[in-house]
This record gives sequence, C-alpha cells and structure tokens, in this order.
Amino acid sequence: MQFKEIVGQQAVKQQLIRSAREGRVSHAQLFVGPAGNGALPLAIAYAQYLSCEQPGESDSCGVCATCKKYQKLAHPDLHFSYPFIAPKKETVALEYISQWREAILEQPYLTLEKWMDRLDAENKQPNINIAECHSIISKLSLKPFESGFKVLIMWLPEYLREVGNSLLKLIEEPSSSTLFLLVSEQPDLLLPTLRSRTQLVRTERLEEEEVAAYLLEAGLADQQGAAQAAKLCGGNLAAALELAAGETSNFGELFRDWMRICYQNDGVKMVEWTEQVGGKGSGSKSGIGRENQKNLLRYGLSVLRQSLLQQAQLPVQARGEELDFITRFAAQLNPEKIAAISGELEEAIYHIERNANPRILFLDVSLQIARYLKIGGAIVRPGRVVMT
Ligand SMILES: [Zn+2]
Repeated sequence: MQFKEIVGQQAVKQQLIRSAREGRVSHAQLFVGPAGNGALPLAIAYAQYLSCEQPGESDSCGVCATCKKYQKLAHPDLHFSYPFIAPKKETVALEYISQWREAILEQPYLTLEKWMDRLDAENKQPNINIAECHSIISKLSLKPFESGFKVLIMWLPEYLREVGNSLLKLIEEPSSSTLFLLVSEQPDLLLPTLRSRTQLVRTERLEEEEVAAYLLEAGLADQQGAAQAAKLCGGNLAAALELAAGETSNFGELFRDWMRICYQNDGVKMVEWTEQVGGKGSGSKSGIGRENQKNLLRYGLSVLRQSLLQQAQLPVQARGEELDFITRFAAQLNPEKIAAISGELEEAIYHIERNANPRILFLDVSLQIARYLKIGGAIVRPGRVVMT
C-alpha cells in the first residue's frame, strides 16, 4: 500500500516521511483513529515506505521487489496481528491470514464489524489471545529474512486486554531490527503500560470534500450521492462506504417510524424497532450494523436541525415525506425539546463508538425520547436539567 492510496492525512504522512528520511523511526508507534480515518492503511503504507528499496521524497517506489510483496501484503518480514475468534486456546491470528489479506486488499478502511462478518463470527466476541502473544514473541525473535527489519502491525490492540502484559518486555527492549505499529480505535482501553511505551501518531478526521471526492473517483457514487454520503457520515470514510454501497438507505423511514413509536409510547413496538436496528443478540453482527446505527442517528440529527429551522421560519432543505414530517415535528415541539432529543442522539453515537450494546442503548434512548415527546412533559436528563 502506498501513501498516495490513502485519502487526506497530509500532515500525518509528511510527519511520518520526515522522520523516516531523518532516520528517527521510533520502534513502537501507536496509530490512533476510527476506521474511517484510515489509520490502518496509513500504518501499512508507512511500513512499506520504510522497507522500500528506493523510497522517494513522498512515497515508496511501488516497483521494487519489496514493494511488490508489500502490495500483496505478503512480505516475509511483514507480520499482522488482529482480533479473531479462537475456537481452541492455541488458535493464533495466522490461521486467518488469507481472509485478512483479502479483506484489506479489497477495502483497507476495514471496520471490526466487516471483519467479523468475514469470519462468520455471528455473536462471538473476538480477541487477541495469549497464544497469539507467544507467537508474536517467537516470530520477532528471528532475524529479518529480507529487509533490514521486521514489522508487526497489530490492528486493535485494545482486544489484547490484560494479556498485553506479555508483550511489554518485547516492546520495551526490542531488537534494533523490529518495528511495532499498533493501530487503535480506542486507545483509552489499552493497558496504560503498553500505551506509555509507544509513540503516538494521531490521525485526523477527513474533510467532507475529501470523502466525497474519493467516492466519486472510485465510481461508488454520483456527484450528488457522494456529497450526501460525505455530509451524513461526518468525515468517516468507513461509514460513507457503507452508505454508498446502499446497505441501508431507508434512514428516513426508520427515523420517522422511531419518532412515531416514541410519540405513541408503545412499548411493544419500541422493542420491535430496537431489535430491527440494534439486533437481538449482543454481538457486533446485529441489526443494521454499528456504522449504519451511527448514520441513522446522524440522519436524525440533521432532521432535528431542519425542524429548528422550520420553527424559526427559515428555509428548510427537505422534500416530500421528509418535509411533511419536519413540519409536523416542528409544530409539536419547542426548541428546548428538540435540543434535548439531539443531545440524546449525540450521546448515543458516542456510546456506539465505545461498543455499547446497541439494543439496550436504543431502547434506553427511545424511553428518554418518549418522555420528551409527551406534551407538557418536563425534560429532566440524568445529570443535567434542560428544561422544566
Ligand atoms: Zn519500493
């Protein structure tokens, strides 16, 4: 993978290239950001740049023998580790390497959810187990086969949990020919001892224009579709890819149903709706999926913003059923209630990013919204009073 294949992230790319050219490469680095930022492909491109036989000023050459092997993710000194399902305690990540290569080569903006789909994980919880740690230690104790050093790219080290302790010594006293690149979406869940031994590489949220341009260039959407997906996904390319793939495009209908059910305060329908969106189990593969759950909530936020404009008698960007809904919604609520519901939706996005159980979360949010929608009902949120 080359830097030029990665959307945006100019400042981070420059910083990585500069440190490589100046020979200041830290042996343990922690790339941080959600899947949609591209932290994983960035780490792979960086490893390729460092290993390339003739690196240029802004990218690896792409044609040397090393680059060619890297492009297939099949260089003997490039190792990957990632969360997986271990049917036996001695199962290691290498058993899934062909699925892994296939997944990354197809779409490097990989989400855990997509990865679990590929492993047919259903509701099983993935992790990086102690057998995998031992395998890493023994792999890295060998001398490099071809390049000057060996690289281990570990995706989502937060799934190491406490077994991460077994890697501390290796990260603290590595051989000079070893490079660790950890790629984390939730660095606060990493063992502090592990985090403190790595140098942080923070990725940036993409601009909407960058996401739209990517979708358009890749032929995944037309101009209007690309602009809409980019806007709704708030700069998250992984979410935009799912939107562009049309995996769930009925956000309007889903959201309107939701608000109607909350308004009627119908418990049975509420449970049915939360199961449709959040799934029945607690695993990652359930309902419409996490990226689309976030997309639905973001869609809801945009409808609420439009409702505020409607109340202020400012121009509203909506048509047909959406406009009807916004008109009725705006007529029934005051700005404080709209703000309170928006707050619930924003908080829900935050919790989904932190792997909350979506079914429980959506049910909880539904009950809150039902209270706000009750005519004359007071708005009391735990910990803050929005309106009385
Ligand atoms: Zn090269």
